[in-house]
Amino acid sequence: MHVQSPFDLSFEELEGLLLGWGEPSYRARQLWAWLWRRLATDYAEMTDLPKGLRARLSQELPLSLPRPGALELDAEEGTEKVLLHLSDGEAIEAVLMREGDRRTVCVSTQVGCPVGCAFCATGRMGYVRDLTPGEIAAQVLHFARRLQESGERVTHVVVMGMGEPFLNYAATLKAIRNLNHPQGFGLGARRFTVSTVGVVPGILQLAEARLQVNLAISLHAPDDALRRELVPLGRKWPVREVLQAADAYVAATGRRVTYEYVLLSGVNDGLKEARALARLLRGRLAHVNLIPFNPAPGLPFKRPSDRRVEAFKRELLRHGVDVTVRRSRGVRIQAGCGQLRTRHLPP
Ligand code: SF4
Repeated sequence: MHVQSPFDLSFEELEGLLLGWGEPSYRARQLWAWLWRRLATDYAEMTDLPKGLRARLSQELPLSLPRPGALELDAEEGTEKVLLHLSDGEAIEAVLMREGDRRTVCVSTQVGCPVGCAFCATGRMGYVRDLTPGEIAAQVLHFARRLQESGERVTHVVVMGMGEPFLNYAATLKAIRNLNHPQGFGLGARRFTVSTVGVVPGILQLAEARLQVNLAISLHAPDDALRRELVPLGRKWPVREVLQAADAYVAATGRRVTYEYVLLSGVNDGLKEARALARLLRGRLAHVNLIPFNPAPGLPFKRPSDRRVEAFKRELLRHGVDVTVRRSRGVRIQAGCGQLRTRHLPP
């Protein structure tokens, strides 16, 4: 069974716990700063907390962190992928991407994923379990500690790793709120991007949370028939409903929504699909991110040629839709979109 860690608690919960132990109210602020700002990895470091309190914390709220395992590095790009071992023996992957001044961490929210997108290595692993808020945040803190050694900081977080964040909504939001807390890690809400495959209730809930985080929706197809083949969850929430939920998000936050579209050669990369996509998005506060497919072992898709990618992009632009082609990072170390996994795929 998973033992709760202090990183699973909100500031208010931690404060309530310490007050319940008879500690003065400023203790929670001290402890919070050690955990989230000074990036402590052991209660022993927290020398301004009384010894007795440190002993009780170690006993009742162990500061267990995921144990880093294999690290893969693409030195040319500066992309790093780490395998993190969790306390119950499961493992997840998290990625650090360096681009200019940006230091972006891509985090996982589940071990495996229940959605099973046809083109995704994680999806083929199946679903194992949800991550706790602390396990989600720990991925960011892991890279924050590494960057600290060179005087750098994490500047952005993308929730795009293993798992569907809105199928683990509460833990994902708690991790974001904790990382956003001004007395701790203090990463601004606009520095987060949450990527969903179109879980409508999650999009609507996020709209109500009024958090100013960026929302990315993985559409991958402009019509339900094709989408259902690529994203099995599309059966539950048709394109029309997903777009309505996105409109509600825009209305609540004023934020532009990004639509992710993985380009699979000969499957969804034709001009016909580009035009259909443009018809859907024209007039909406939307931006399309085209992701030429990153090959992963055991997946039956091909990356389209650069010429085809360019033609798809031009067609969207011609119809007045904002678009960029995402330069995939980490592909050489299987850290690109849809390539994360911690188990061997079935043949
Ligand atoms: S693309 Fe995302 S939602 Fe789809 S199977 Fe992979 S991890 Fe899950």
